[in-house]
Amino acid sequence: MHFDCLVVGAGFAGAVMAERLASQLGQRVLVVDRRDHVAGNAFDAPDRRSGVLLHRYGPHYFRTNSPRIREYLSQFTEWRPTEYKILAWTDGRFWPFPVNLNTFEQLIGRASTSEEMADTLEKWRVALPDGRPPANSEEVIVSQIGRALYEKFFEGYTRKQWRREPRELDPSVCGRIPIRTNRDDRYVNDSFQALPRDGYTRLFERMLAHPLIEVRLKTDYREARAQVSCTHLVYTGPIDEYFDHSLGPLPYRSLRFEPETLEQPWFQPAVQVNYPNDHEFTRIVEIKHITGQADLPMTTIVREYPADYAPGGEPYYPLPTAEARALYARYEARAAAETNVSFVGRQATYRYYNMDQVVGMALTEYEKLRTKLPTPTA
Ligand SMILES: Cc1cc2nc3c(=O)[nH]c(=O)nc-3n(C[C@H](O)[C@H](O)[C@H](O)COP(=O)(O)OP(=O)(O)OC[C@H]3O[C@@H](n4cnc5c(N)ncnc54)[C@H](O)[C@@H]3O)c2cc1C
Repeated sequence: MHFDCLVVGAGFAGAVMAERLASQLGQRVLVVDRRDHVAGNAFDAPDRRSGVLLHRYGPHYFRTNSPRIREYLSQFTEWRPTEYKILAWTDGRFWPFPVNLNTFEQLIGRASTSEEMADTLEKWRVALPDGRPPANSEEVIVSQIGRALYEKFFEGYTRKQWRREPRELDPSVCGRIPIRTNRDDRYVNDSFQALPRDGYTRLFERMLAHPLIEVRLKTDYREARAQVSCTHLVYTGPIDEYFDHSLGPLPYRSLRFEPETLEQPWFQPAVQVNYPNDHEFTRIVEIKHITGQADLPMTTIVREYPADYAPGGEPYYPLPTAEARALYARYEARAAAETNVSFVGRQATYRYYNMDQVVGMALTEYEKLRTKLPTPTA
């Protein structure tokens, strides 16, 4: 059986590519995913007992600054505007997080101002020699807010999450958490923060509902390759796996999610509570705070445990270290030599991207491809 395009992976990268190729170019597209559902890591489904629309692979907070990406996705969903507010639990109490003026006031035990906070951080911060930029995740935080706040909120969390010292990790890991001297206590800065009104899975179902798209679940790439031929391949799985790990396996971090349903309406005061210094888990998520289901009588929480990655497990996070990047660069060079294959998405490019960035990457890849692809088969 022949398809114009075989898309491996039904996450954001694969679904956007399939949708564009079918709806704009009239291509016949087969999408395969080895999981038993579409939506990749953004998959959500109601908990059987509580009815809470759980994000199976960790909370997915959609946000973007790009009107192009928002408008593209808005063809397939309405939105539920929301703000992601999280807390940290340490020293026996909740703290506003990311660090902001409210956090600072709680720390010093009295009311303060943005000016006082900025002046104090200026005294606490540890300047880098010769004003050079931070070289790792410890430096990026200590050079902004000093050691005490770093140790309270960042050090333990990062160690648990990556099983590495923050100084071994790229500055981008901790550097993407904002530090604010005002009272803005939102988790992220983006101008658009909202969830698909009917959930992510429904959004994906609508994207993939085009008559020229066929979706086969529980189907691995190798299996599909043996069954069908294609003119072009879009691959969104792990790049080392595509090349049979021939240069050695890329390192990843994994996670274990432990859900618990409780016969009470709420468990915690915010959608997410971080545990930088207590317990083996890094965070507890009570997604009901943002799914528009406040009326449900029960709740479901999910504890998130960092885990080592072993082949066959889920490669959630590429490791943000220099050695891992160097190995990826060698795979990337091989990928560039492949003809009629596009490597798109988080695993295929071995980089942590947010959902909106992956949508943007796929839209750009489609634009590059559209002029090159042959006319679809009849
Ligand atoms: C715990 C966690 C929390 C996150 N939270 C956020 C957040 O709050 N906000 C945000 O913007 N982003 C978040 N992200 C990032 C988000 O998940 C990614 O940006 C997005 O999923 C990337 O889409 P993708 O299509 O590249 O990859 P994926 O969603 O991983 O999809 C890839 C798909 O390919 C399939 N596949 C792989 N190999 C094969 C194969 N050989 N054969 C068949 N199928 C295959 C996989 O089963 C998977 O379904 C989070 C990620 C994680 C891990």
